[in-house]
Amino acid sequence: MVTIKAPIYHAPLACMSSSMQVDHPLSSLRQKSSILTKEIMSFICQKDCYLKEFHTKVVSCSPSKLKIAVNGKKEVVSGFDVICEDTVLFPEGGGQPDDRGTMNGHEVLRITRVSDKAVHFMKEALEPGTEVHQIVDWSRRFDHMQQHSGQHLVTAIADEKYGWPTTSWDLGREKSFIELDTPKISNEQLEQLEKDVNEAIRKCLPMMPRWVEVGSEELQKVRTRGLPEDHVGLVRIVEIESIEANMCCGTHVSNLSHLQMIKLISAEKGKKNKTNLYYVAGDRVLKYLAASIEVEKKLNKLLKCGQDEYAQAVEKQQKTLKATNKSNLLLLREIAVLEGQRYLNQPNRDVIFCLHRKEGDSEFLNMVANEIGSQNALMLLSVGDEKTSGLFLIAGPEEVVAVVGPKVEEALKGKGSFKNGRYQGKASQLCNRPTAENILREHADKRKVET
Ligand SMILES: [Zn+2]
Repeated sequence: MVTIKAPIYHAPLACMSSSMQVDHPLSSLRQKSSILTKEIMSFICQKDCYLKEFHTKVVSCSPSKLKIAVNGKKEVVSGFDVICEDTVLFPEGGGQPDDRGTMNGHEVLRITRVSDKAVHFMKEALEPGTEVHQIVDWSRRFDHMQQHSGQHLVTAIADEKYGWPTTSWDLGREKSFIELDTPKISNEQLEQLEKDVNEAIRKCLPMMPRWVEVGSEELQKVRTRGLPEDHVGLVRIVEIESIEANMCCGTHVSNLSHLQMIKLISAEKGKKNKTNLYYVAGDRVLKYLAASIEVEKKLNKLLKCGQDEYAQAVEKQQKTLKATNKSNLLLLREIAVLEGQRYLNQPNRDVIFCLHRKEGDSEFLNMVANEIGSQNALMLLSVGDEKTSGLFLIAGPEEVVAVVGPKVEEALKGKGSFKNGRYQGKASQLCNRPTAENILREHADKRKVET
């Protein structure tokens, strides 16, 4: 049974501009509008999606600028907009990102569609009339073809069998998703949909683009969201034999067998009662599997077990960690009390009390201070790395703390604040504790602290 169906008509303008210019009943209308004629175009990359190289001629070249990410940072690059008679490099459209490649050995950094023209942005100028040899970055392009054709197949089966129309899709760098108009997809449904999709791939069905006229009987069979009002020319349809036909300007595989396999990864809650179906197709399935195997190897080593026992092993470790943290906390509190008492029990104790511990937190510092009492000493307490960063607390007679606090903060290259009679904060140079202690001592000498 042949079901001609087009559940999605994404990127209408891009699809329209992919149509070919022909004489048909609307040609008189076309002549009346220059805008309309500009919308009609089809590039060689859309006619032969497997063409990797092409010879053509430069039509125009003008200085331009482009904002691109260079080593993760957005930069404005100066270059040229080069337009050729035709192009084997696909400009973005139909949800598919643009190609990368070279022209006469120079890198093409971006290809955009402006009206019926494909604009190649390059750092180098190519004079009009120059013969150019275009080469497509085939691994990027073929990956896009597999993900895009995979989307058409999943969209068709999800709509036909389950009644979930596709409302949008996104071709991601690692995985892509299809937004389906359904609030939920169960695990069983996801599993069955994946089986159905892969069964279609095993049938090695041809997938070819063709062009049909507006108003033709054939086009009537293709379900679309309608053509834009200003559309003229032929309409490009991509058909998966016996499954669906879809208006689209993108580049596609010529046979479903070229998809190799589709893995549905997850169905996640999307916007407004919709579900985002994440998937990978073709070579990405192998990459995904290779990455998962790498993770598995690392976890086998770390958890000392096979993947069947991961959950159990992690659960056990989490329980142990929780118990250890609880025990550490209790011990730290006990140490805080003991440190305080040890100081108070010294027969001729110094009015200055300095204590540093590598382990501890703000609570530990406050517990030591509480144990000693603000009238019994002027305290500089700290935790963290002895030489670099950590936490500090100054406690003692409130009026002294208020004065020495900012000075100690400066000495320790820290940031803190005075609150409830104590000055506490973060320090970045705990190695300066001797200087901080001297500051405390100077002020303690000026003022009699009760001991
Ligand atoms: Zn498409």
